[in-house]
Amino acid sequence: MLNIVLFGPPGAGKGTQSHNLISKYSLVHLSTGDLLRSEISQGTELGLKAKSLMDQGILVPDEVVIGMINNKLEQNPHAAGFIFDGFPRTVPQAQALDRLLESKGEGVTICVALEVPKEELVKRLLLRGQTSGRPDDQNEELIDKRVEEYNNKTAPVAEFYKGQDKYLGVYGLGAIDQIFHKICEAVETTSR
Ligand code: AMP
Repeated sequence: MLNIVLFGPPGAGKGTQSHNLISKYSLVHLSTGDLLRSEISQGTELGLKAKSLMDQGILVPDEVVIGMINNKLEQNPHAAGFIFDGFPRTVPQAQALDRLLESKGEGVTICVALEVPKEELVKRLLLRGQTSGRPDDQNEELIDKRVEEYNNKTAPVAEFYKGQDKYLGVYGLGAIDQIFHKICEAVETTSR
């Protein structure tokens, strides 16, 4: 199985690169942000609770996203592998992912981190906000909050994967195709 954690701050290009990777390696895309937005649009209780946190740029509780990932892993027993996009976002989530995959005799193959300076993130998210319809992309204060959450709670996940020798940083500015090429090189070297 090829299990890729696509890591990086909001606006780093994880969604775009996920789509490229899915078509190339036939992987199942697991984006906790997309899963949460789908709960919101279906008006579920989970969605209602998550929305109030997401609208403030704050992470939802670990057990919520871990439960959603667990369900999706169970629903795709024959997948060639998964792309984890926007998950894990805390060290306990990373530990839980290891446990979930280990219980199936699998593990994370590689964590690819897209590295993008903050000014560029803000620019990209505000631009995306003009068409994405996402309230959290349309307000600079909220974007700052999301980046702050990333720096405080998510950045330590990089150390977690560095400790396992599974971390690879890729400079995320430049042509999408070139960045994609660098990611593929890293994936293929690691999974060989
Ligand atoms: P995203 O679409 O990945 O930018 O996520 C949008 C929002 O959903 C985040 O700002 C968080 O509030 C929430 N969220 C998405 N993934 C996670 C996660 N793995 N852990 C906690 N909160 C998450």
